[in-house]
Amino acid sequence: MINISLENILEWVHGLRRVYAENRQLLTELDSAIGDADHGVNMDRGFTAVIHALKQSTPADIPAAFNAVSMALIRSVGGASGPLYGTFFLRASIAGKGKDVLDADDWIAVFDAGLDGVLQRGKARLNDKTMVDVLWPTLEAMKQARQKGAGLGEMLRQAVIAAEAGMKNTIPLQAKKGRASYLGERSIGHQDPGATSSYLLVRKAEELWR
Ligand code: ADP
Ligand code: MG
Repeated sequence: MINISLENILEWVHGLRRVYAENRQLLTELDSAIGDADHGVNMDRGFTAVIHALKQSTPADIPAAFNAVSMALIRSVGGASGPLYGTFFLRASIAGKGKDVLDADDWIAVFDAGLDGVLQRGKARLNDKTMVDVLWPTLEAMKQARQKGAGLGEMLRQAVIAAEAGMKNTIPLQAKKGRASYLGERSIGHQDPGATSSYLLVRKAEELWR
């Protein structure tokens, strides 16, 4: 695939709804170890609300679709992840303004803007044991692949490898941000739930567009 269309984005979002329904228990179990056992519920509820919103009104273009995702997540998710993913999609929407399709460089640009929003909103850095530990290396891997001349498919294959490594890297880390940070050293030895939901997000894109 060379370009990502509005239809492709909607397919991805519908795919994410299924992924988070299927992984609701896994995400909740991860969050029960170092948080309050609601991350699976939050992601499932959030993307169910997203699909509902998309049924109410069909977005005209990709930025409108990202905006609808953002608003539904912010509205429906009580936990920290709602506003963070909401900000990701809001910034992606702004970065994608005027685009009918996204090519490989556009996808990097919207992802970059989305991550930037998460960093500004949550103030987490790399290795704080959050979703940033997946989103950041994912972006870096895509940029590097692109610099070496990779197209969208190869870029996404590199992205999912980096995303998985980033997710697993959270296991030995001590949480510095979010609820898990209250546990101090006891957060060590557990995979971060938000890093896991971010990995699932990247993996679904790779599955569809590689
Ligand atoms: P809550 O922590 O409010 O219960 P969730 O359980 O839905 O919300 O989400 C928890 C996840 O959110 C964490 O695993 C972590 O990845 C992510 N997270 C929490 N705080 C931050 C932050 N400041 N910056 C980035 N990600 C964060
Ligand atoms: Mg939680």
